[in-house]
Amino acid sequence: MKTKAGLIVGVGVGILLLVGLVMLLRLEGPIDPSEPPHLGRFAEIPRIDVHVHVAFEQAERAVRLFRKYGGVRIALNASGGHPHGGGLEESAEIAKRTKGALLPYCLLDFSAVEDPDWLEYVDRTLKACVELGAVGLKIHKGLGLGIVLSDGSLLRVDDPRLDPAFELAGKLGLPILIHSGDPKAFFQPPTPDNERYEELLAHPGWSFYGPRPDGYGNWPSWEEVFEQYENRVARHPNTTFVGAHFGNAPEEPERVARMLERYPNLVIETAARVPEIGRHDPQKIRDIFIRFADRIMFGTDFQIGRDGSLVLGSSGKNPDPPSRVPFFYESHFRYFEREDRNFPHPTPIQGKWTINGIGLPREVLEKFYYTNAMRVFRLPHPLSVGEDGEEKK
Ligand SMILES: [Zn+2]
Repeated sequence: MKTKAGLIVGVGVGILLLVGLVMLLRLEGPIDPSEPPHLGRFAEIPRIDVHVHVAFEQAERAVRLFRKYGGVRIALNASGGHPHGGGLEESAEIAKRTKGALLPYCLLDFSAVEDPDWLEYVDRTLKACVELGAVGLKIHKGLGLGIVLSDGSLLRVDDPRLDPAFELAGKLGLPILIHSGDPKAFFQPPTPDNERYEELLAHPGWSFYGPRPDGYGNWPSWEEVFEQYENRVARHPNTTFVGAHFGNAPEEPERVARMLERYPNLVIETAARVPEIGRHDPQKIRDIFIRFADRIMFGTDFQIGRDGSLVLGSSGKNPDPPSRVPFFYESHFRYFEREDRNFPHPTPIQGKWTINGIGLPREVLEKFYYTNAMRVFRLPHPLSVGEDGEEKK
């Protein structure tokens, strides 16, 4: 009996060690034998990534990865937290510790809209955001697609009770990074012929098709949410909006161009949408980038969780291995900087297609990679930020 028990314990410990080793390899590398990733093949322009998600525990590692693999000297953390104990104070510490290489957006809890002290809450929260050095306010897609009011309806992006928050953000000079809606495919039946079936299988909660799971009627359509978002941008000409994910309509670049034309207070960024915009006629997208050269910023949606797990734009059930980091950046740069044809996009789970590069001219790339972000978020020159020299191993 004793030996049998010993054997079982031994095998158990062995399995645990093996699992531990596999996890360690997954989380900590090896990143790539050919590192750093051929960055020299791309434009030597410093980059500001205006849309990342970094768990506080991973701040230093994130900054190293961004700099080494993406040439990103400043990254703006859309998971910067709420002020008054909701994480923003820690984010402010991190901003100091990383010498300005990782700066936070702050968050506002829109579900408090029905509370009697809503206006007071907005006032003290946004003012604290500014005091703590938040670069802007991040609005999650939950506004429009997640926050449920006491009558069971979804809080609309253009609900007039929210107006004071958007007005005040404008007065305080806080740009608003706003994610409204989601890919159009998420509003269509999650069946095998849905082009993002694989992603919807891994994340059933991302489907906005048909009835809401809480039983209060149906999800709104993609069109309805987009209309609410446009109403919001139109209503506050003195507030700067950063339309996340290529202005929330990468499937319809003409529509995004029309909005940029109509609303001078709108700028956009590219997070997690190179796969989508890369499918269009590259000449058409190139024209938009050139025509609105002052209004489009570099963003990736690079995400690092508390345990160090990576999500590069989007992922399946499992996080992305660190070995994919160089490819993730390279395929972005290849898209923006070259006119290569039919190459793989940065985020395979978003769909089985290839993309065509838009080969932007140098002066447009400089605006796109950093000078627009410097202006919109009032940031220092990215080369003046962070520690110099080689990253520590
Ligand atoms: Zn994001």
